[in-house]
Amino acid sequence: MLVTYDGIVIGRREIGENSCFIDILTDEQGVIEATAHGAKKINSNLLSSAALFSYSTFCLNKNKLRYTVNSAKPKFGFHELGSDIVKLALASYFAQAVKYCTPSEQVQSESSRDSVVRFFAIALYETLHAGENGRSLAAVKSAFELRYSSMLGFAPDLVACDNCGQYECERGMYFLPRKGMLLCKDCLNPEYDGHVLLYPETLFAMRCAVFSPPERCFKFSVSGAAEKQLSAITEDYFLYRTERTFTALEYFKGLAL
Ligand SMILES: [Zn+2]
Repeated sequence: MLVTYDGIVIGRREIGENSCFIDILTDEQGVIEATAHGAKKINSNLLSSAALFSYSTFCLNKNKLRYTVNSAKPKFGFHELGSDIVKLALASYFAQAVKYCTPSEQVQSESSRDSVVRFFAIALYETLHAGENGRSLAAVKSAFELRYSSMLGFAPDLVACDNCGQYECERGMYFLPRKGMLLCKDCLNPEYDGHVLLYPETLFAMRCAVFSPPERCFKFSVSGAAEKQLSAITEDYFLYRTERTFTALEYFKGLAL
């Protein structure tokens, strides 16, 4: 049976001299493992589509439980990520996160309105172009962690103070990471665990990452102490919700710090 999906290659394992297995992220079926026969031959029409982070329309042959790539038409390539080891490491963290959190070969639930393939393509694009537009790699990472948490059903409630409904408070807004909610200074009980007094830029960035349309959710800039605060909050939030850590994240942090 032939099936066609738009997808992005988020993993690749070599088989012998000429072929490979690729993990394709799709909206329809989660992550699909497919064999790309001859993809490493220089004259193969799968050469670019089977590359890591290639975004293509894949025509797959499904035989019982196995998929084979029949043909592929590239839509967009992010191969330039390979020329910057830090950006490549960040993209690899995103790929590991998505692979871990997306069920294999299952129809995706309707709980998220965003296309995960489109979101992942935007994340790769923003990673590739980080530094060119005033946005740091750390900000791209934070936007990914918070937005993807939301797509997985773990959206923090950042609308207003959970108790009194104030959108902003002159005396400061606090984030409660374990509860995933905001409290204003007036409503905060100091005994709450791990509350963080947010810089205004941090709160703006967090709201942008969660509430903007996917193409806008990376489009904020933070710097200095607010950027450090945002980084700490979003990484902790994502890892706590997914209940694990990622080797690619540790590798990225080793390079970037
Ligand atoms: Zn309040």
